[in-house]
Amino acid sequence: MFGLIGHSTSFEQARLKARSLGYDEYADGDLDMWCAAPPQLVERVTVTSPTGQQIQGAYIDSVFVPEMLRRFKTAKRKVLKAMELAQKKDITITALGGFTSIIFEDMNLLKEERVSAVELDWTRFTTGNTHTAWVICQQVETNAPRLGIDLATAKVAVVGASGDIGSAVCRWLQRRGVGELLLVARRPQPLIDLQQSLGEGRILALEEALPEADVVVWVASLPQSLEIDTASLKKPCLMIDGGYPKNLDSKAAAPGVHVLKGGIVEFWQDIGWQMMEVAEMAKPQRQMFACFAEAMLLDFEALHTNFSWGRNNITLANMDRIGEASLRHGFRALELEPSDQAPAVLARA
Ligand code: NDP
Repeated sequence: MFGLIGHSTSFEQARLKARSLGYDEYADGDLDMWCAAPPQLVERVTVTSPTGQQIQGAYIDSVFVPEMLRRFKTAKRKVLKAMELAQKKDITITALGGFTSIIFEDMNLLKEERVSAVELDWTRFTTGNTHTAWVICQQVETNAPRLGIDLATAKVAVVGASGDIGSAVCRWLQRRGVGELLLVARRPQPLIDLQQSLGEGRILALEEALPEADVVVWVASLPQSLEIDTASLKKPCLMIDGGYPKNLDSKAAAPGVHVLKGGIVEFWQDIGWQMMEVAEMAKPQRQMFACFAEAMLLDFEALHTNFSWGRNNITLANMDRIGEASLRHGFRALELEPSDQAPAVLARA
């Protein structure tokens, strides 16, 4: 059995959802009340692979909302309590979605094995980052040529290059061969370490990298205040919005700049579930975060282990492995709409 731990994208959205589900007490409650609320197992589903295999799953709402990020103790408790609930419900492999994996890593929750009387078994959880990194790389490889961008000569900026997903994307793109990797993050030392381990890549500030890049992979949670000077961007430019929340389409809207929601997959058929509506997917019945899909894939493949765990441990071999499973079980990375593609490329198709 697989599990998904998620949360609403905002407090306002969470209250609306509570109202629609008939939880009026929550819908009327203030943030303090939500901070004290326990996690909820809100939905159970059955998922069928094109191979005919069926798995059962459950969605746990951590009752966390991004407005709680600065309340460190609350954020920490929300994540650990949701994990405890998953374990108590005997879910074999659970993905930490949205901010929950970031809170887990940033607040070093590995030290917090014990929640109440329950000892957490880390092998039951995955960040889902290996599949997310693989999906983002597929999105680069598939969509850049559709805009007439030749990856063999293209400059690819990775914003968040020193992170867990970003460093895996860099390793993948290096193996595939791209013109040049532009490495962007705030702290210099992790970037220098990455550059040394890759043996290539140019470290740049964001504002230096953007005007040079044919492709930008965003794998960092960026401040709402970020502004992009779209006039200075190359045209065409492919932007893969892989961070959370996904807020680039409005910031980088300009002719010739193509923003694609990164790390999102579409399943081969509708799943009778409600859970992706809170995540604002275009097709919530079959689209989901790649990290959630990783828990499903691990269950389909009977790989009941913390496949993605810790930071900067993602290997190319594991990306290949989860990628093969992804295709076998009917997932496809989100692609640009045909209206976004270069006319000359469409004419050839
Ligand atoms: P990490 O914390 O491991 O890495 C984050 C990276 O972003 C680091 O390199 C960090 O370096 C950099 N960074 C953070 N803030 C900024 C900034 N303001 N400007 C430039 N660089 C910045 O995170 P993960 O790799 O686990 O996740 C990356 C992103 O992907 C997150 O936003 C996460 O929510 C999202 N995600 C999306 C999924 C999906 O859509 N399917 C699934 C899983 C995660 P430094 O601190 O030095 O700046």
